[in-house]
Amino acid sequence: MDNQPTVCIVGSINMDLTITTEKMPMQGETVLGKDFATYPGGKGANQAVAASRLGANVHMIGAVGTDAFGEKLLAHLKKEGINTQGMRTDPSQPTGIANIILSEDDNRIIVAPGANKSVLPDLVDKQKELIKQSDVILMQLEIPMETVLHTLAIASKFQVPVILNPAPYQKLPEALLAKAAYFTPNEIEAEAIKESPLFSSIQKKLIVTEGSEGVTFYENNSQQWIPGHPVEVKDTTGAGDTFNGAFAAEIANGASIREAVTFANAAAALSVTKIGAQGGMPTRQEVKERIP
Ligand code: ATP
Repeated sequence: MDNQPTVCIVGSINMDLTITTEKMPMQGETVLGKDFATYPGGKGANQAVAASRLGANVHMIGAVGTDAFGEKLLAHLKKEGINTQGMRTDPSQPTGIANIILSEDDNRIIVAPGANKSVLPDLVDKQKELIKQSDVILMQLEIPMETVLHTLAIASKFQVPVILNPAPYQKLPEALLAKAAYFTPNEIEAEAIKESPLFSSIQKKLIVTEGSEGVTFYENNSQQWIPGHPVEVKDTTGAGDTFNGAFAAEIANGASIREAVTFANAAAALSVTKIGAQGGMPTRQEVKERIP
């Protein structure tokens, strides 16, 4: 990217602890699983990695514990070229983890947010200057809602646009609906947003991702649809995170909504052709070469 736009992400970071098994344990049962592996995850960190690989200058505001997972995750962010000056290390909390059990036909996930609960307004206050200098703020809902609202208030004051990925879905406060520039729900989250009394006022800010079907959004007051790219699917985990990171990178770079959605749709399609949430996140070069 020519002039390296800045994307600031305020969000979650977890270590995904993944066990594969032939048989899911029943209540009270212990089974011998197959393989175990750890993968960096959390929606905030995943979206940061996606935006960084696509050439944006990315800052992450978030928190880890003082344990080994925290150290590994911070090192991983740095390796991905992400600026971690806004990260907090909280000695009173463990690093967030997701415990994932995968069998052939089922998956069960339990998340312990740990240090993600320490991403509080005071941490964002320390980074006001960073927010002011960013081209775009990108957030999800895996950190306390009070922090999302606080960040939005600061960003609005400095007229920095905020993209909200409303996942995992929870009821959106009015201030959020009124002030965010774009919302990027998947189809299920979009259905929930439709129930909001303010739906009609934010309808045109919605960019709805529809899996293999593509993306629906508004341009000049009319609804538009861009179809998904036909690709060989290996693992759809992280498709939404790739879309969000890519969309934010493009908006930060001054792209129109159509250009940003088109690029993010291509980047997210490539992400499903490889295993793992971050494993398939493409570089800008890869998007250009494979989906010109
Ligand atoms: P996830 O939770 O799996 O990360 P999500 O539910 O948040 O995903 P989706 O709407 O499933 O989000 O996917 C996001 C975007 O990724 C889609 O709009 C599309 O651009 C791309 N995508 C997802 N699945 C496919 C697919 N099978 N083929 C092509 N593109 C896909």
